[in-house]
Amino acid sequence: MGSSLSCGHQAVSSTPDASESIEQETPAGTDWWKDAVFYEIFVRSFADSDGDGVGDFVGMTEKLDVLNDGDPSTNTDLGVTGIWLMPIHRSPSYHGYDVLDYRSVNPDYGTLAEFEAFLEAAEARGIRVIIDFVMNHSSVQHPWFTSARTGPDSPYRAFYSWRDTNPGWTQPWGSGPVWHQTSSGYYYGLFWSGMPDLNLANPEVESELVGAMDFWLDKGVAGFRVDAARHFFESEDGVLSDQPESHAFFKSVRRGLAEHPEALYVAEVWTNKRTVNEFYGDGGDEFQLAFGFDTAGAILESANDGTRAGFEQNLRSAASIYDDLAFEAPFLTNHDMPRVMRILGGDPGKMRVAAAALFAVPGTPFVYYGEELGMLGGPSDRDEDKRTPMRWDAAAPNGGFSSATPWHTAQEEDGVSIAAQRDTEGSLWTLYRDLIRLRRTQASLTIGDIELPPREGGGRGGTAVLRSFDGRRVLFVANFDGSASGPMTVDVDGAANRLLGEGLTRVEAEDGGLKVELEAHGFGFLAVD
Ligand code: CA
Repeated sequence: MGSSLSCGHQAVSSTPDASESIEQETPAGTDWWKDAVFYEIFVRSFADSDGDGVGDFVGMTEKLDVLNDGDPSTNTDLGVTGIWLMPIHRSPSYHGYDVLDYRSVNPDYGTLAEFEAFLEAAEARGIRVIIDFVMNHSSVQHPWFTSARTGPDSPYRAFYSWRDTNPGWTQPWGSGPVWHQTSSGYYYGLFWSGMPDLNLANPEVESELVGAMDFWLDKGVAGFRVDAARHFFESEDGVLSDQPESHAFFKSVRRGLAEHPEALYVAEVWTNKRTVNEFYGDGGDEFQLAFGFDTAGAILESANDGTRAGFEQNLRSAASIYDDLAFEAPFLTNHDMPRVMRILGGDPGKMRVAAAALFAVPGTPFVYYGEELGMLGGPSDRDEDKRTPMRWDAAAPNGGFSSATPWHTAQEEDGVSIAAQRDTEGSLWTLYRDLIRLRRTQASLTIGDIELPPREGGGRGGTAVLRSFDGRRVLFVANFDGSASGPMTVDVDGAANRLLGEGLTRVEAEDGGLKVELEAHGFGFLAVD
């Protein structure tokens, strides 16, 4: 028998009458993010409006209609309802993960007024915007730190952690040092010397950070992606991750922002599910979402090796570990990883079945800009090569990103552009558009339960996942293999109607279940009566 993977997500906070209306059964209020689809943007690489080779708020605003034009009757937009902006604050680095001023915007990207205009334009289209918030550390050039390093008499000395001698600890993922020397002692900086860790045990530091978060929520930001959440605190003897104080700290941050009950907090906790699960807190009082790094790895593993094992095992482990409130943010890759198309060796079939699987699993999906075009980035795996400029039009100078030489470039094929794919049925972009629309109109896929129904046949790559909500069921079938699946019988009763699919050569209701056959990398979403 297939294992039931019922996650029992708290479905809705406001389901009044039994109604067929999707609007009445989709999450609202503080649960708005449960049926959202997010799009991660690196502002520096998205769209340059003023010809300096650097993306900016105005450029991003001008491109919003491609992401969501606010009109459900058109099909020339991707249909995302959330945007995550990588850091927008003043910073000495190109990426912005070392902040100089938590209440500023990076002048490279524009003015605060231009950012607010972007927020308004996004809201008018039904898009909510969350921003990266880097609480673990500041820039070494932050005025707090330049004061703190002058010595123990600085009013900001206790904003950071100091020792007279170097304890000799090293990074958990490598051998880099984490204590860095100054003339007034050693300071703790987990990632590198340019990012001194803030002393989050200091109530003044917490107050400054909460004040800054409140500032952005008042501006209309919908929440935060919180960087490096597992590294907030470290033990006295050098355990540098997942300390209990990190959880107490973030619960306290949430209490400090209680006036913003709709704010969304998404944790970056780059580790296994069992540890990730701790960050959901008690009754949802910590993070509402955490990125599904395991899920990303499992989908890519199945797409790459052609077998269902990784994909299915990940769903089983999610069901056994996460409690009712746990709700992942699944994704394929982000700005810290080689682009998904590169990981999949440029194989469009693997890419398409991976994208379909992303929208079949529970949670709130995140798409990394350019993923929907099959951007490769590169040529190397260094960080800049994972964050290259968006490809708007291959025939325009610099791919339509900028009239000037971009801050960074990657070689991409001509077909990898919005201009080439937006009006071309069958493109990767239109597949993402269709998957996002399907996802947003099927409550089973957003907030539904999940199970792996019993299945026979289907070769090594065939899989079937049943999502259900309020008596309605959507069956996802897929073939991760690069060869046809052969017959696969799925133990699900009822007639099946195709909602979306590719390479789905056979769907028949028979005694004992649904018989399906899939071509190489085929998939289908079927409504089951
Ligand atoms: Ca610019």
